[in-house]
Amino acid sequence: MQKIEMKTPLVEMDGDEMTRIIWQILKEELITPFIDLKSEYYDLGLKHRDETGDQVTVDAANATKKYKVAVKCATITPNAARVKEYNLKEMWKSPNGTIRAMLDGTVFRTPITVKGIEPTVSCWKKPITIARHAYGDVYRNVEMRIDRPGRVLMQFIPDDGTEGQEVVVHQFRGPGIVQAQHNLDDSITSFAKSCFEYALSEKKDLWFASKDTISKQYDHRFKDIFNELYENTYKPYFEKAGITYFYTLIDDAVARIMKSEGGFIWACKNYDGDVMSDMISSANGSLAMMTSVLVSPHGYYEYEAAHGTVQRHYYKYLNGEETSTNSVATIFAWSGALRKRGEMDRIPALMDYADALEKATIDTIESGKMTKDLIRITKLENPTALNTRDFILAIRERLETLL
Ligand code: NAP
Ligand code: MG
Repeated sequence: MQKIEMKTPLVEMDGDEMTRIIWQILKEELITPFIDLKSEYYDLGLKHRDETGDQVTVDAANATKKYKVAVKCATITPNAARVKEYNLKEMWKSPNGTIRAMLDGTVFRTPITVKGIEPTVSCWKKPITIARHAYGDVYRNVEMRIDRPGRVLMQFIPDDGTEGQEVVVHQFRGPGIVQAQHNLDDSITSFAKSCFEYALSEKKDLWFASKDTISKQYDHRFKDIFNELYENTYKPYFEKAGITYFYTLIDDAVARIMKSEGGFIWACKNYDGDVMSDMISSANGSLAMMTSVLVSPHGYYEYEAAHGTVQRHYYKYLNGEETSTNSVATIFAWSGALRKRGEMDRIPALMDYADALEKATIDTIESGKMTKDLIRITKLENPTALNTRDFILAIRERLETLL
């Protein structure tokens, strides 16, 4: 069989622990036998990040700006224990955080649905994609405990010496608590753009919700920015694509979603996204059955798995014990990146390959062959538990019949 040719490289970011092992097997068995892979390789493994003073993470993000499509393996975000374990020069920051800040992106997460692993919400027929705004609100708040009567003020002092603003937050008559939050028009605009762009790229409806009836300045600003962008820029594109933008109150959104069929993108403010993404992923079974893509408002795409490096399995692997780690999210990161590369470079064969790889993966699971995490939740009778490598080999067998 002739291998599929690529035009432009995609950016490949290798990672850590069990997902690094999976990365290797997956490339050997599912990618390079079928594709003449052009990738610019960046080793984001913790050891190499340490050796380069984390420069490699910055280089990888810059390469993503250049080539527009990246695929990333899960990486360790160091804590005190990791600093000791890897004898690190510094407690390096989260690579995902660094990349997201450089690309100014929003992360979209969608459950991967297969027959036999049904969502706990029975009316959900199609996956719901969550987009979480990743800046500000309660995550960048300041707060105080008040221990005696007194007055709390919120004050704005303009840099240019003009007259500012002041409001009384509360006149405390006894002990209590107080909090201030902020967000930025620029950040909200980027978030909204990423959401509109992604909805168009996926041809799915976009929902956004906040509590603007109660929060008449703060949440209302979110609503207005989304609305202005839609009306001034995206409306004709949405109409042409046959998709809709829908705004409602957050509690109404939650009530509707529990009765919906799914199949849309749900843009969430930071806190709503934190909470609701855990609800959506647990209702669908497993973080290993979820796609995750960082979309920047400038049209850069970085595909990754939503889970971590699966450290516990890696230590078993190092001990020579058998592991059964689910590679589905990592496989879909590759298929997503290759499909997007094919789309941008107009290579239909590459897009077809991505579809075939996803179909082979889903068919394998639906035929009853799966990793142990799915055995625990499947409704299929007599499923077969495969180890990490054999699961990937089973997918390869199916893939060969599809290509
Ligand atoms: P994790 O790697 O997601 O794993 C937590 C547990 O979830 C595992 O022990 C395993 O449960 C289950 N699990 C997750 N992915 C699985 C898969 N593909 N197949 C089967 N089971 C899976 O989270 P963690 O152990 O808290 O974090 C490990 C490292 O990952 C940390 O250093 C963290 O910094 C990093 N991390 C990276 C990313 C990223 O790069 N995107 C995201 C999150 C965390 P059982 O042990 O019960 O089998
Ligand atoms: Mg959460």
